[in-house]
Amino acid sequence: MKTELLIVGAGAAGMAAALSAWEAGCRDILLADRRGLPGGILPQCLHKGFGLAGYGTELTGPDYAARLAQRLEKTGVRFALGTEVLEIRGDKTAVLSDRRGLTELCFDRLILAAGCREKSIGSLPVAGTRPAGIFTAGQTQEMMNLHGQDPGKEILILGSGDLGMIMARQFTLAGKHVIALVEKDARCGGMARNFHRCIEPYAIPVLYRTTVTQIHGAGRINGVTLRHLDSGREERIPCDTLVTALGLIPERVLVRKLGEPVWLFLAGNCRRVHDLVDSAVAEAEQVGRSAAIRLDKAL
Ligand SMILES: Cc1cc2nc3c(=O)[nH]c(=O)nc-3n(C[C@H](O)[C@H](O)[C@H](O)COP(=O)(O)OP(=O)(O)OC[C@H]3O[C@@H](n4cnc5c(N)ncnc54)[C@H](O)[C@@H]3O)c2cc1C
Repeated sequence: MKTELLIVGAGAAGMAAALSAWEAGCRDILLADRRGLPGGILPQCLHKGFGLAGYGTELTGPDYAARLAQRLEKTGVRFALGTEVLEIRGDKTAVLSDRRGLTELCFDRLILAAGCREKSIGSLPVAGTRPAGIFTAGQTQEMMNLHGQDPGKEILILGSGDLGMIMARQFTLAGKHVIALVEKDARCGGMARNFHRCIEPYAIPVLYRTTVTQIHGAGRINGVTLRHLDSGREERIPCDTLVTALGLIPERVLVRKLGEPVWLFLAGNCRRVHDLVDSAVAEAEQVGRSAAIRLDKAL
């Protein structure tokens, strides 16, 4: 199998790059994603707040994804959903896995639009075991919004990034008790607009200059030890769920051994983490055009 342009990841960035590459004249584009539906992170983001710069109105994540997908339907870009890209080799071949098995695909250009991953509790020096009930904020968002699962009732959130604040509001609206957001710095880690929308109106406590030093519980977490960094004082807080919002890391594992070949482009959150989807899309559109133009020159 062969394609001119392979795009790995059909999130906002992958779809925007595909659209602009198509508009720039590339007619052989395959957009692969391991998930069964396009949009990447967007389908699980049910809150409004997407697209103010791009569309002049605040959309939900699914609505934003649908707009890009509808534009793509009018092109000849091919989707390969439910397809994981397992390997990308320096000789311009990729190994794809779907329910039929493994396929080798040759390509001329590749855009990696694989998004980012959340830092987990493993990235911190926290003592204790790792019982059930510890999730990243994105995992709880996926559990609740895509699978109707209940992460827990008495929730402590470690980190005050945007994801943590958005989920603090969602937990509160779902009738759960958010004990506090715990932040090691003296100020909130995420955007001010999320603090004003998600934390202030619900009077959710934020403990600044504080961290978690120990996890308690055997089968399920039943508490944590907090340390107040300025005084050194420690206290044990009961909880049945610990949610981490510790930041995002660009997902480049597929290309980390390849160096910087001319045929490889990065777009969206795997290039740099974007707080706003419109900025990921604007950058990805440029990347799509560049990939199409270089293709053009190569032919
Ligand atoms: C919880 C949350 C809330 C947000 N809220 C807002 C907001 O209110 N307003 C706003 O403007 N922005 C918001 N953002 C930011 C914005 O949504 C993102 O920056 C943008 O959607 C990222 O798009 P992306 O395509 O780079 O990554 P993603 O959406 O993560 O897409 C990456 C895709 O790549 C796929 N993939 C990865 N590796 C492989 C592989 N090996 N094989 C196949 N497929 C692969 C993944 O399955 C995924 O579908 C939010 C982000 C998050 C996480």
